[in-house]
Amino acid sequence: MAKLVEESHPALHTIAEEVTPEEFSNGFLKKLVKDMKSALHSYNVEGFTAVAIAAPQIGISKRVFLVEDQSEDRDSLPSLVAVNPSIIKHSKKTHVVGEGCLSVPDRYGAVKRHKNVTFKALDENGEEYERGAGGLLAQIIQHETDHLDGILFVDRAEKVWNKGEVSDKELTEAGNE
Ligand code: ZN
Repeated sequence: MAKLVEESHPALHTIAEEVTPEEFSNGFLKKLVKDMKSALHSYNVEGFTAVAIAAPQIGISKRVFLVEDQSEDRDSLPSLVAVNPSIIKHSKKTHVVGEGCLSVPDRYGAVKRHKNVTFKALDENGEEYERGAGGLLAQIIQHETDHLDGILFVDRAEKVWNKGEVSDKELTEAGNE
């Protein structure tokens, strides 16, 4: 089973490669997405579930991330798979938001993000789509796109805490992707 790699793994600090047409057709992408989902679902620490994962987080240096909210809240996030994604527009407005990461399990940070983004990507079948995102989803898209460029939130954060220093409530409210 695919597992999350440690923070020091080179895939987390390298610009990932695009998925090729061959990798769509030969089953590589399909298996990668399956492995990413199982790694995402396996993460449950002290009741926190994860909502997104990028391929480098399981040690595969490929430009793929997915969002899958396992909570059953009314305003849960959409499920999406983004292959070779790029952010094509972002709002000038930024805000500083709380952020965590499966690959940096012991820390938590305050990161400046654009409030809204528009991105395009291929889905699992190689069909191109484009969508806008605001709020938490916009934050996740920026966080996951950073993973594909070898950037962790701690590289960008204005402030970083050890998780023991913040309350559970704050962590839950800010999300943990
Ligand atoms: Zn992350």
